[in-house]
Amino acid sequence: MAFSREVYAQALAELESRRGKASARAAAFRERMIREIPRLGEIEKAMAQSSTKVVRAILDGGNIEPTVDRIKTENLALQVEMSMLLREHGETAVNFEPQYTCPACEDTGMANGKRCACLEALLQEISCRTLSELSSMRPTSFDELDLTAYSDRPEGRNAISPRARMREVIGYCRLYAEEFDGQDNSLLLTGPTGVGKTHLSLAIAGAVMAKGHSVVYGPVQKLLHRLEKEHFGRAEGNSEDIMTACDLLILDDVGTEFSGSFYTSALYNIINERMLEGKPTIISTNLSPKELADRYGDAIASRIVGTFHPLVCAGGDIRLLKMKQSLV
Ligand SMILES: [Zn+2]
Repeated sequence: MAFSREVYAQALAELESRRGKASARAAAFRERMIREIPRLGEIEKAMAQSSTKVVRAILDGGNIEPTVDRIKTENLALQVEMSMLLREHGETAVNFEPQYTCPACEDTGMANGKRCACLEALLQEISCRTLSELSSMRPTSFDELDLTAYSDRPEGRNAISPRARMREVIGYCRLYAEEFDGQDNSLLLTGPTGVGKTHLSLAIAGAVMAKGHSVVYGPVQKLLHRLEKEHFGRAEGNSEDIMTACDLLILDDVGTEFSGSFYTSALYNIINERMLEGKPTIISTNLSPKELADRYGDAIASRIVGTFHPLVCAGGDIRLLKMKQSLV
């Protein structure tokens, strides 16, 4: 996938910061160890002098082999002493060297003359984050979902309370996010306005991102509007590629976007392409299966209803309820 110059610049800056931190950690470790075990400073100095000794032996002429062998033996003894001293303090000499986030490329982004996998992942993650930030929605956590906001009085024919239902739905979503590996089911979150569908989607986004996966989330209206602007040359970018390639795509409030053939076909293409590649999508909507079919046509509705795992959210508008509670 092609990435914009800004995305590259951000990724390279992040790699530079990782390198800087790794070097700073190593330097701080070395300083602390020498302060705690002064003998380490002497050992380091002695080892640094070995190369000078070798150069001097060469300049003196004659057979340098015995001298080099002696210096090697001395160095080895110093290294052993250093390791033992560190071990006595529960430390290891490895930390004297910078410990990079990615040992394969030492946080340079290039390994074996190619773009390293860590840089690929970083570019993907930054593109997704940038696109998601357009929506001004922020990932949140499951712990912020307040079950007491839902009625515990059984409702409807199933005689199950909204609270009990939401407990099940939240439990499912939590497990989904915890076990997410990029090959999971797609989810269809339905239910009336204000019952917490967006909050649930954003909690999944937060948990899946924390596991290191790339996630694009946002109201479908904003994401498709962005895509439309790019398509007709009013903005630069490759939102469609990013929405297709990310590990998890979360389309919030499907059905509230402007209706029109561009939006419908863009939505269909993205959902279809992700499905073909086995990538999961989460859709939240107020629409019933019949309303989905009426609005988008049977092809897209049957794809969603037939293959997405349905989760029905229940309850009154908890935003209204919370607003009322805060007024009391
Ligand atoms: Zn790397």
